[in-house]
Amino acid sequence: MIEYENLKKLNQPFFEEYKSRFDDVLESGWYILGKDVEKFEENFSKFNSSKYTIGVASGLDALVLSLKAFNFEKNDEVIVPSNTYIATILSIIHNGLKPVLVEPNIQTYNIDPKKIVEKITNKTKAIMVVHLYGQPCDMKPILEIANKYNLKIIEDCAQAHGAEYFGQKVGTFGIGAFSFYPTKNLGALGDGGAVTTNDDIIKDTIMKLRNYGSSEKYHNELVGYNSRLDEMQACFLDVKLKYLDDITNHKRNLAKIYMENLDDRFVKPIEKEGYKNVYHIFAIRYERRDKLKEYLLQNNIKTEIHYPVAPHKQEAMKNIITDNFPISQEIHETILSLPISYYHTENDIKRVVEVINNYDR
Ligand SMILES: *Cc1c(COP(=O)(O)O)cnc(C)c1O
Repeated sequence: MIEYENLKKLNQPFFEEYKSRFDDVLESGWYILGKDVEKFEENFSKFNSSKYTIGVASGLDALVLSLKAFNFEKNDEVIVPSNTYIATILSIIHNGLKPVLVEPNIQTYNIDPKKIVEKITNKTKAIMVVHLYGQPCDMKPILEIANKYNLKIIEDCAQAHGAEYFGQKVGTFGIGAFSFYPTKNLGALGDGGAVTTNDDIIKDTIMKLRNYGSSEKYHNELVGYNSRLDEMQACFLDVKLKYLDDITNHKRNLAKIYMENLDDRFVKPIEKEGYKNVYHIFAIRYERRDKLKEYLLQNNIKTEIHYPVAPHKQEAMKNIITDNFPISQEIHETILSLPISYYHTENDIKRVVEVINNYDR
């Protein structure tokens, strides 16, 4: 059986280092906002060429607090792709703001910059981009629009740790919101997230927001939250961060095997000059996706669907998003994620290619 993912096998190479760092945290007697969080924040900033990293409790919280830091007014609008994981849209709603969905490009699966301007109104305050599956968005036209209309940029980097657009890391074009959910390219052994920024005021605000609105104990300047990355997760993340480039290179190498060998009847991800995709997910499209998924399972290959239900079709959104989004819909109906874990070998992937290319229905 080739599994889609296996979190134990994925983390096994790091077990010894995890255990040693965990022992230090245990013995230190200091478990929330201490030196391991600080150290990880510093190292992640270096990795990402960001001035600051602020550890928070999850990827969703990183998005929620990023928006909160701008102090937008109730019912202000935020542009967001119609093709994303629901968390992106939830963060806007939780801030009392209105999500304005924009269709993706059918080849990149990311927000289509050409369709943004028509959705801008005098209430639009920000564009929340999502570097989906690890593929960076086309940032140049998006930054031009943001400048022209004076909009903030928030990047959902939950699937794109280390991805680059013409040599620049994602999470440095605006505010970056990262998730360290265990399956992500940089995954913890529990929940975690971080915000990256080059702005001193945003950094100070998010440092307060994550800790009850306080920078000095028992003095609360803002209406804050409890959203802190804990010392234990930070120590695991700090270990894994050292290997993130290896993880990325391994996944890109596996992606290359798919790209070079998969039949063209399966729609492969697009690779464009200047875009460094970190392949959090290797997604193909195929018209009879469900049948293909079933066939692969019969041949002992597990796959996933990211995602089976489009945000605008979710029960929770029925009174919030009322328009139709046919491109997003089409992607949701045809997309299929193939195995591409750090623990998979080249032979695993060659086996997947062989089986899938033999599909004759
Ligand atoms: C995983 C993910 C999130 C949410 O991250 P959590 O840490 O699970 O809260 C947000 N956006 C995208 C695109 C994601 O893939």
